[in-house]
This record gives sequence, structure tokens and C-alpha cells, in this order.
Amino acid sequence: MVRAQPDAQFKILLIGDSGVGKTCIMFRFADNMYTETFTPTIGIDFKIKTVRVRDKTVKLQLWDTAGQEKFYNITRSYYRNADAILLVYDRTEAVTFQNIARWMRNIDENVSHPDDVVRILVGNKSDLQNRLIITSNEGKALADKYKVDFFETSAKSETSPNVNKMFYYLTEKLLDQR
Ligand code: GDP
Ligand code: MG
Repeated sequence: MVRAQPDAQFKILLIGDSGVGKTCIMFRFADNMYTETFTPTIGIDFKIKTVRVRDKTVKLQLWDTAGQEKFYNITRSYYRNADAILLVYDRTEAVTFQNIARWMRNIDENVSHPDDVVRILVGNKSDLQNRLIITSNEGKALADKYKVDFFETSAKSETSPNVNKMFYYLTEKLLDQR
């Protein structure tokens, strides 16, 4: 089998407090799978997902943290050559939303060219309708403050298209600014 070279390749990182659903978002998009029982200590480095966008084959390298985020101990090497960073919070846990500021600072302090990296703010666990604390307006306002894009997702809900929609949107944006 001849495997064509991708037309483009991007490195995308997931960042945010422990438990917000970063690993689930990655698995939902890469494998269309969801499980309650991820063990954060069994760290995988990255997953590859190849997508077709605008007649182009784009290889996305999705990097997940393996529990280091618990200690806010994300090293410079994790950020190296990142094209985009998804900053994820849990809409049912206010502290994870407050900590977005901390993650934004962490990026600014560790990324060599912070302005060149696309950032997206992601409010996850939107399926937990009656436990939602962070409203869409609050999420949007924070994204506006940082001048970044904003998505609300559910890694759990199979009927929620937003995880895929977010990654396709991001891929198009990365292609545009190449
Ligand atoms: P991480 O520490 O940020 O990687 O978070 P995980 O992906 O390990 O998810 C932490 C917990 O939240 C797990 O028990 C997941 O099942 C749950 N979870 C993740 N995403 C969602 C979601 O969109 N909705 C709901 N209801 N639970 C989620
Ligand atoms: Mg995880």
C-alpha cells in the first residue's frame, strides 16, 4: 500500500487542570471513543489523527499531558513546536475555569513565540446540563478577553458534534495561516 505524504502536519496540545476531560477529548476525536476509566498515570505521549480538509490530507499530532498538569509542572519541551494549544476547563468546576489564567501565563512563559500559537478556549462537560456552573456567556467573555476562539464541548456525548467541529475549525485555521 502506498501511503501518501500529508500535505500538512500540525502539533496540537491539550492543557488545563487535571480532570477537565483532556484525555477524553483526545480519544473522542482520534478514535471516536469514550471511557470513564482513563488512568492519568498511564501516560501516552501523543495520538495521530489524519483528516481531509479542503482536498488536503492533514496529519494532526495530538499531545496530552499524563498527570503532570496536577502539579502545574509542564516543561518547555512539551510546548516545543506547538502549532495550537487547547485550553480546557470543566464547566461544572469553577476552579478549573479560574485556572485558565494560570495556564495562559504558563504558555506565555514557556512558549518561544507565544503569539504564533493558536489558542482555543474549551469549556468541556457540556452534557452535564443540570450541573453546569460556567455559563456560555462567561466562557465567551473570557475568550474575548484573551482574543482567542471559544468552543463548548462534550467528550461524553456521542451526539455532540462539537469535539469534531472544533478540530476541523482549528485545522482550517492552521492551514489558512501557513
Ligand atoms: P484529564 O485529566 O483532563 O485528562 O481528564 P479525563 O479525560 O481523564 O477525564 C476526567 C473525568 O471526567 C473522567 O472520569 C471522564 O469520564 C470525565 N469526563 C471527561 N469528559 C467528559 C464530558 O464531556 N462529560 C462528562 N460528563 N464527563 C467527562
Ligand atoms: Mg488526562
